[in-house]
Amino acid sequence: MIKEIIKDEAFLAQVAEPATPEDVSVGDDLIDTLKAHQHECVGLAANMIGVNKSIIAFNNEGYFWVMFNPEIIKTNKEYKVMEGCMSLDGKREATRYKTIKVRFQMKDFSSHTMVFKGYTAQIIQHEIDHTKGILI
Ligand SMILES: [Zn+2]
Repeated sequence: MIKEIIKDEAFLAQVAEPATPEDVSVGDDLIDTLKAHQHECVGLAANMIGVNKSIIAFNNEGYFWVMFNPEIIKTNKEYKVMEGCMSLDGKREATRYKTIKVRFQMKDFSSHTMVFKGYTAQIIQHEIDHTKGILI
């Protein structure tokens, strides 16, 4: 289901609760909402659609991914970049890493660890920040 994008900064500043298998439908809603906004948006976190759980969705070079309880466990090569966000006006500077190693769960709650680089890594870092209540 396509959901409305939340812009309430006080709501978005909360740290997300861990996701559980009961939250799988939130991942579907994130994908539906992301697809509806794909001309202007490459990633969403669950709090942006009003659910304060640790779930993110992003466009990985044309493939839509959902991660439950994502966690960055390793970073490499820091850089600065200007970013925008569906929940904020304008662009802001962010510190990101070119390569990240992420531990996460898939829809079936199996655990995975994967390395991401470049733009996809940047999107994931932005969305994981949302799960910590951090806005750029
Ligand atoms: Zn954002």
